[in-house]
Amino acid sequence: MKFSIISDAFQQMEATTKRLELTDILVKLIQEIPEDVIAKAIYLIQGKLRPNFEGVELGIAEKLVMRAMSKSSGIPLKKIEDDYNKGGDLGQTAENILQQKIQTTFASEVITLEKVYDTLFKISKLEGKGSQEMKMKYVSSMLNDATPQESKFILKILLGTLRLGIAENTVMDALAIAFTGKKENREIIENAYNVSSDLGKVAEVISTRGVEEIEKFQIKLFSPIRPMLADRIKSGEETVEKFQEKFAAEYKLDGERAQIHKQKDKIEIFSRSLEIITSYYPDIVEKISKLIISEDVILEAEVVAMNSNSGDFLPFQELMHRRRKYEIEEAVTKYPITVNFFDVLFSEGKNCMDMRYEERRELLEKIIKQDDFARLIPMSIIESKEQVLEVLENSINSGCEGLMLKHLDSTYRAGIRGSNWLKLKREYQNELGDSLDLVVVGAFFGKGRRTGKYGTLLLSTYNDEEDVFPSICKVGTGFTDESLDQLYQILSPKVTLKKNPRIVSEMEADVWFEPELVIEIVASEITQSPIHKTALDKIKEGTGLALRFPKFTGKIRTEKNSEDASTDEEVIALYKVQKKTENQE
Ligand code: ATP
Repeated sequence: MKFSIISDAFQQMEATTKRLELTDILVKLIQEIPEDVIAKAIYLIQGKLRPNFEGVELGIAEKLVMRAMSKSSGIPLKKIEDDYNKGGDLGQTAENILQQKIQTTFASEVITLEKVYDTLFKISKLEGKGSQEMKMKYVSSMLNDATPQESKFILKILLGTLRLGIAENTVMDALAIAFTGKKENREIIENAYNVSSDLGKVAEVISTRGVEEIEKFQIKLFSPIRPMLADRIKSGEETVEKFQEKFAAEYKLDGERAQIHKQKDKIEIFSRSLEIITSYYPDIVEKISKLIISEDVILEAEVVAMNSNSGDFLPFQELMHRRRKYEIEEAVTKYPITVNFFDVLFSEGKNCMDMRYEERRELLEKIIKQDDFARLIPMSIIESKEQVLEVLENSINSGCEGLMLKHLDSTYRAGIRGSNWLKLKREYQNELGDSLDLVVVGAFFGKGRRTGKYGTLLLSTYNDEEDVFPSICKVGTGFTDESLDQLYQILSPKVTLKKNPRIVSEMEADVWFEPELVIEIVASEITQSPIHKTALDKIKEGTGLALRFPKFTGKIRTEKNSEDASTDEEVIALYKVQKKTENQE
């Protein structure tokens, strides 16, 4: 398939801001893609080469791309750099620059989608000595054959800056319309995606074997399942009202969610955002097989750091010591963990997701041989608000964040945030009633002890309808000297020359970042704001929502992508609850 078909569609998508139009263009594009390349095309549309959990990264430097452009066009590097510095988008620079080349050279070979994909894939595999030269060779060979417009999009994919505003939901809508004629059939596609976490594969199966096959999509060991998520709740009373009968109360531990896949002695661990994290936990790999009485299983657990002397749970940040490539053995001894199981999704060749909560818990109790390292999360079956308060108290006293309240009949609904699981945190009971996970998009330099560091951060929510990051507040409290240092180290490599177009803010930050890092914030109130852009026009025309007295909780949410941050809708919902409470008072 000619790459120009895809790049023409990308061009149209770039020009529109309306989600419906975007879906239409995508539907037409999908209908033109032959079945043997549809998986590759779907990954490219999302700006990647493989599903996230395979961890295939392109990792290429802008400088190298500019050299490749110069090589294939004969235009001096300096001129390319000047154009780039003016515009700040290397893809666009390529289009401008190569326009000049086209008049001087003969028409070259037509570039295909397969060629682009395969070359990008080869680039992703290159490492070590001589790899930079090889990367440059591959990039310039693609640029030799590509038109200026094609070059623009190839480079955007290569540099990870393809921002067409296509979220996974839009791709699923478009697949449903293209293959079944109806957007309503997206649910079938979503179910398949929820158990495979691989949209390319879903598209390939639907295209080659039809919708019926998608309905039969099975869980597969070592392909992560999208996690089931919980709704927030403010009180035990609300839980009793919602469930109307007995329910399970589990401690909500403050650690890292781990989806553990095991087949005989082979173990793989996936994070909440479905990346492979096995290498951070060699102790789990070493010990867990002996503690699980099942040949092949998929289990969910919360991994928590603990104090080896007292046995107490330690806060989530302590796990960050495990995020090392080297000296991991040392971290394993210095920062011990426990693995606290709370669900079983697959066992002995059988999908357990359709089993009721109680049955899954019973099975889990049979499968896990508990010891100091592996445990089951404490659970009790209760029915009154007084009991909720009592268990909540106990959980907080043991260093937990609160409770997870689960409906006894609930099946495991992959990828869904629903009311069968409710979370009740301690801080829900005061002020704003909840913490928010916000994206760090910019910063202002500090003064006094904070000189040379980022003293204040500019934060955004995620607007999933438009795939952008509108600002919600600045935060300058809650930081320790240590956390300021740590944030500086994480954030300084993310500084961009220009504000990323997905950041929506009127503020003039001292520096802008790629919107990638998520941190946890508490605040006293949500207020209407003429400056901030979260929920703009949703409550009142020309006005957004902002946080009053925001404070950093100390938690850097490395396990969350920026698209997992709190959304505009969540902030609106909290704002409405706050208004209702104010009116009652
Ligand atoms: P949060 O910010 O509250 O962690 P989240 O968006 O990561 O939210 P939620 O579904 O809202 O995910 O909250 C559930 C999270 O709590 C899980 O992702 C898991 O990491 C953690 N957790 C701790 N204890 C439990 C438990 N007993 N059952 C399920 N999840 C638990």
